[in-house]
Order: sequence, then C-alpha cells, then structure tokens
Amino acid sequence: MSIKNNIAQIENELKGRARLVAVTKTKPVAMLQEAYEAGCTLFGENKVQEMTDKYEALPKDIEWHMIGHLQTNKVKYIVPFVSLIHSVDSAKLLKEIDKQAAKHDRVVDCLLQIHIAKEESKFGLSEEEVHQLLDSPEFYAMKNICIVGLMGMATNTDSDAQIRKEFRGLKQLYDSLKQSETDRVLMRELSMGMSGDYPIAVEEGSTLVRVGSAIFGARG
Ligand SMILES: *Cc1c(COP(=O)(O)O)cnc(C)c1O
Repeated sequence: MSIKNNIAQIENELKGRARLVAVTKTKPVAMLQEAYEAGCTLFGENKVQEMTDKYEALPKDIEWHMIGHLQTNKVKYIVPFVSLIHSVDSAKLLKEIDKQAAKHDRVVDCLLQIHIAKEESKFGLSEEEVHQLLDSPEFYAMKNICIVGLMGMATNTDSDAQIRKEFRGLKQLYDSLKQSETDRVLMRELSMGMSGDYPIAVEEGSTLVRVGSAIFGARG
C-alpha cells in the first residue's frame, strides 16, 4: 500500500466526521511531502526540534500540530508557527505558551490533554485538575491562549469495550464543558483515536484523529 492509498482509505472511513492529523514523527521529509501531495495538510509531531526542521522544509499551508509532551523551555521554538497544541497537561505549560504567544502577538489554540487510560505512564490532567485550572485566577489572566477542546489517549489494549468506555468518558467531559463555554474555553475539537482505535473514536465523537503507522508504516 502507498501513502496515498492509505490516506484515501482512512478518509473514506472517516466520511468527513473527523479530520485527519497525519502523525509524521520519525518519518523523513520526503514521506511528508508525499502525504501533502495526497491532500494531507494537518501534520502531528511530538518533538520540538523535529517539528521545527520539518516546518522549515515544507510548504507553508501545512498546519502543524504538537501532540507530544512539551517542555516549557521549548515552547518558544514552536509558538511562532504551531496551529494547535494537543498536549497541554499543566497550568505551568499553559502559562508559558501564553507568555510566548503574547510576544508574537498571537493567540495559540490549545487542547487540554486528559488522562483517560488505565496505564499510569501516560501524561494528562484528571477531570478535577481541569476544573481547578479553568477556575483559577491564573487562567483568567491568560489572554494569548484559547482552549479549543480536549485530547486523550485510550489504554493500549485489545479490549474494544475498554477503549470505547474511555473515549465515551472523555466525550462526556467535553459535553459538560461545552455547557459553560467562555471566550477562551470553547469545545470545538475532541482529539482522540490513533491507528489502532480511530474507528471507535470516531463513533464516540472524535473530531480529530491522530494517525501515524496506518499511513506511513511502523516506526523503527
Ligand atoms: C505517535 C502518536 C500517535 C500515532 O500513533 P499511531 O499508532 O502510529 O497511529 C497519536 N497520538 C500521539 C500522542 C502519538 O504520540
């Protein structure tokens, strides 16, 4: 299967219900170029240096999505061009994004990453932490970020029922936050679903799926 065929097959399954973020981490620029020529314009990376290098090498109408854990000291390198940061998992990180965004006179769209998996190793906020963050005076003072939704990663398991339950829980939080939207907390994007579980994620209301290996093949 070619990159082009893989993308066509996934788009065919998505049927416009969710947008495809092609996860290009570890893949060479030539492969990204191929995906771009096949119509992909949303690319997801998890490392700052790699994303910056690829941004410089590729067409400027690509939207760059940061999907990996982000260290505060590296925020400044991506703020000038990043379209969406999926992986905001602390007030400290959000504050730094806000500070750097102000320097560039822009508002950076962010998703709060929520811990939904059973594994302990994965990053993310609890529901309680989300409320604490959004209700804090600190958050109120941030004028150069906008929370546009939530992101979550399901447990790596063969149990579709478990995965579905986790995605459904995230959708419930999304729906409840939608009831109290403000100018800086909007629930427009629900980023859930990867190569192994995006069909379930889309059934459960995902608007952005992050798919890597199903497009580009396994990572080495
Ligand atoms: C690598 C990665 C993906 C894509 O994983 P695949 O299984 O290759 O589709 C999605 N989301 C995040 C946060 C990732 O780090």
